[in-house]
Amino acid sequence: MAKEWAKWFYKSRAWKKCRAAYIKKVIGICEHCGNPGYIVDHIEEITPDNINDPEITLNHDNLQYLCLSCHNKKTFKKKEATREGLVFNERGELIKDGY
Ligand SMILES: [Zn+2]
Repeated sequence: MAKEWAKWFYKSRAWKKCRAAYIKKVIGICEHCGNPGYIVDHIEEITPDNINDPEITLNHDNLQYLCLSCHNKKTFKKKEATREGLVFNERGELIKDGY
C-alpha cells in the first residue's frame, strides 16, 4: 500500500471514519474466510483518477474486510465471497447461509 499519491487519503479523517464504521459493520471478520480481519480493502482499486470520488473511496459497497492471508491472495471479489454462503443474521452475526 505504498502509494505515495494516496497517502493523504489513507490519513484523512473521512477514510478513518469510513474504515472504522465498515469494520464495525462486518464485526471485524474477514469476509472471505471468517477469520479475524486485518485490512479494509478497496474492491475497485484506488487510482489517481478516482481518488477524489467518494463513490469509490468511501463507499461501503466497494470495500471488503480481509485477513492478511486472504488479502495476499486476493484473487476473488466480494460477490464470490458472499456466494460461499456466509451471511449476516439479524443480530449482525456472520453465519453460514441456511443454518
Ligand atoms: Zn480471510
